[in-house]
Amino acid sequence: MQNIEKNLNRIHSQIRQAAEGCDRDPDSVLLLAVSKRKPAGDIRLAFELGQKHFGENYLQEAQQKMAELEDLDICWHFIGAIQSNKTRNIAEAFDWAHCIDRVKIARRLSEQRPADMPPLNVCIQVNVDHEDSKAGIELGAVPEMAAAIHELPGIRLRGLMTIPAPRESFAEQRLAFAQLAKAQDALRQQGIDCDTLSMGMTQDMDAAIAEGATLVRIGTAIFGERN
Ligand SMILES: *Cc1c(COP(=O)(O)O)cnc(C)c1O
Repeated sequence: MQNIEKNLNRIHSQIRQAAEGCDRDPDSVLLLAVSKRKPAGDIRLAFELGQKHFGENYLQEAQQKMAELEDLDICWHFIGAIQSNKTRNIAEAFDWAHCIDRVKIARRLSEQRPADMPPLNVCIQVNVDHEDSKAGIELGAVPEMAAAIHELPGIRLRGLMTIPAPRESFAEQRLAFAQLAKAQDALRQQGIDCDTLSMGMTQDMDAAIAEGATLVRIGTAIFGERN
């Protein structure tokens, strides 16, 4: 049995230390609790402890938990791959989508976002290590994709997201995240106003914060190992 309260406290102090260690305001780093393959009861417990943002990877699983947790004012983030036939449900139920890597998907999300909801917050997923197994676009393709989607009315481009390959050292982890930070600076110079770097997981959160992460996606360290 995981002690979610203890784990959340530990992660909050780890974020604080990592941020203060590089002269950043700890409040500039949002904690996204990744609850995939964990029961709705765990989410409820974390919510009652003050956690508001939750990330899910699989649509059906997320929909079941959302139904069970309807009474809670949760901010839901979709952090899985998005197939065309899933865009409507995502546009209708989520506050954020982190893994945009096709203009076509962004267009569908924008068109399908209900008019009475604020624009869906999105990040472009970047494949910094050119891994065939991972989604995301190459860094060099970011400016063009951002230009193509940032004016779509039903979505709001918030920034970039990445899942780097595991690395041995802290210094190497930082190098991977630094590439994303640089790409985001370039977007700003291009006149595209982004405020989010979605990067850092249980294993590499400190390095991500050192390179400017504004949103860390943490699962295992909060809810324990997944089956
Ligand atoms: C599962 C997942 C996480 C959380 O990973 P942990 O190592 O458990 O912290 C973060 N981001 C994405 C996109 C994930 O799929």
